[in-house]
Amino acid sequence: QSAVRRIIIAGNWKMYKTQAEALEFLQAFLPQLSETPESRKVVLCAPFTTLSSLSKTLHGSRVRVGAQNIHWAKEGAFTGEISGAMLTEIGVRYVVVGHSERRQYFGETDETVNQRLLAAQSFGLLPILCVGESKQQRDAGETEAVISRQLERGLVGADQTNLVIAYEPIWAIGTGDTCAAEEANRVIGLIRSQLKDTDVPIQYGGSVKPENIDEIMAQPEIDGALVGGASLEAESFARIVNYQ
Ligand code: PGA
Repeated sequence: QSAVRRIIIAGNWKMYKTQAEALEFLQAFLPQLSETPESRKVVLCAPFTTLSSLSKTLHGSRVRVGAQNIHWAKEGAFTGEISGAMLTEIGVRYVVVGHSERRQYFGETDETVNQRLLAAQSFGLLPILCVGESKQQRDAGETEAVISRQLERGLVGADQTNLVIAYEPIWAIGTGDTCAAEEANRVIGLIRSQLKDTDVPIQYGGSVKPENIDEIMAQPEIDGALVGGASLEAESFARIVNYQ
């Protein structure tokens, strides 16, 4: 691992956990952080309805709170959306943008992802920009081109020093089919070579589990993980955060 780049392990809870379940998770999770090296950042990207109470409970702890979406306007007639001002007011520090599930099911394009990312930065939130190829694109040899395009379009006008990138091959998300650590390392190296600031933390995401985190984090280009399924259970997420 680089001596200068930050290590960020983030849970992405997706549409899981009520407020009561979120607080129950923390009760079991927080005591296990005593073993976590101080230099590792820990983030929970949780549903909107849990953010306020997570943020209150986590006040003074080392765990940061993240949202899973942000709208680009400050306020307005955008039914169902949430603004940066609403997030920062309740102590949210990170926000996921461009997750493949949003691109796939909710019509996100590189352009809307870019607008959401710019809004996050303008409110002082750290965007976690997700990029990654589908199985079909990988098989067609398009991985590099797809990712390069997502990065280029997603980062138009962005402050390239204030963000996190997550490389999430779509075929590895929620499938148990993790990308081989060396291959994730290779693609993340390519992503890094396209960035203006090569110290930007770049995470791997896609079926990260207690069983594979050590190998993933042993790769020199990988600065953390974005963890879906395995972040829902306190024991397994603690094991991931406390990787060797
Ligand atoms: P997974 O999800 O860990 O369940 O594969 C990762 C993600 O979608 O961020």
